[in-house]
Amino acid sequence: MSKILIRGARVLGGEAQDVLIDGETIAGVGTDLPAGDATVVEAEGRILLPGLVDLHTHLREPGREDSETVLTGTRAAASGGFTAVFAMANTFPVADTAGVVEQVYRLGQEHGYCDVQPIGAVTVGLEGRKLAELGAMHESAAGVTVFSDDGKCVDDAVIMRRALEYVKAFGGVVAQHAQEPRLTEGAQMNEGVVSAELGLGGWPAVAEESIIARDVLLAEHVGSRVHICHLSTAGSVEIVRWAKSRGIDVTAEVTPHHLLLTDELVRSYNPVYKVNPPLRTERDVMALREALADGTIDIVATDHAPHPHEDKDCEWAAAAMGMVGLETALSVVQHTMVDTGLLDWAGVADRMSFAPARIGRATGHGRPVSAGEPANLTLVDPAYRGAVDPAGFASRSRNTPYEGRELPGRVTHTFLRGRATLMDGKLA
Ligand SMILES: [Zn+2]
Repeated sequence: MSKILIRGARVLGGEAQDVLIDGETIAGVGTDLPAGDATVVEAEGRILLPGLVDLHTHLREPGREDSETVLTGTRAAASGGFTAVFAMANTFPVADTAGVVEQVYRLGQEHGYCDVQPIGAVTVGLEGRKLAELGAMHESAAGVTVFSDDGKCVDDAVIMRRALEYVKAFGGVVAQHAQEPRLTEGAQMNEGVVSAELGLGGWPAVAEESIIARDVLLAEHVGSRVHICHLSTAGSVEIVRWAKSRGIDVTAEVTPHHLLLTDELVRSYNPVYKVNPPLRTERDVMALREALADGTIDIVATDHAPHPHEDKDCEWAAAAMGMVGLETALSVVQHTMVDTGLLDWAGVADRMSFAPARIGRATGHGRPVSAGEPANLTLVDPAYRGAVDPAGFASRSRNTPYEGRELPGRVTHTFLRGRATLMDGKLA
């Protein structure tokens, strides 16, 4: 097996240390480790993190291979420093059976750029009427533990209650896309001053907050575990904070774009800013940053949502909702959280690796950088500054809101069980 010595990296942002990888495992962490016959990666000034874990990725395969495939999506993940991604169930066909989740799981294993953990649908066909085969998906080779109808809300309270009861038996979790459907009919952007001025249909904060309030109460009633996808409002933060203070078993995520962008950008009518939940206000952005810093929000999740050019390059009303995010996530988090002093690198390791791995039960990921652990690692150059160029993306899609924007930091190396999937910024 090959040996790699990462020399002089700041592990989780701390003191410079050497990390020796032997085969699939971290063999040692210390100062002045002898290189021997190992390949040396000079890492002075760089940050070494546990491999990042994304609890919310849309890989689009099967069914929409024109926007992304498991291969291109996992290459994008490796470029962004991820060693594991959870693939959302809104594919064609929907991942609502053991057969489909096993197919996605196997494709991830075959390609080998990062581990792919399929998410199972909560309801058959994401239609919200009948529970999918949650038990069969959990017992399949894919070992599904996270269930979500993401893209749609499980809006029927009885179905949500039954799903929470069902997953409790095997320690699973339901990840809710909180969107009250009646309150968001015809919604095109955040409901507020800007939507009123532009005359676009509003997506009110209460449509998110009312579902979160209901679901944390259902989780308490059932004694089960609920995860809230992509929090986007200050009010949602307050509800989750209240629920946690009561001891309710709730976790929550925020996307990089909701930590940086606001609905003011919609004035451009550029559909690259159209996303669900929508970009909110500056006040919401600041509340989300604070909540991620104090742990009310547990994790950053990308909601990587690739779309082909023709689905985004059209008038605002007709454009698809969503943004790609895997290849820019860490830079946006450095920009909004680290460079602002809200979070240190150990905090980034927690919010982007330890905590998402724990919530999704991703075995072998989100582990400490210490001897005997699987060598799932990400090396970052935090001093790098550069404009985002989507032409260089590994993703099949280019729908990024950051084109031309200068962002800090760059992932230089990603190691999946000791194998470099990204080496000096190039996919291996
Ligand atoms: Zn969603």
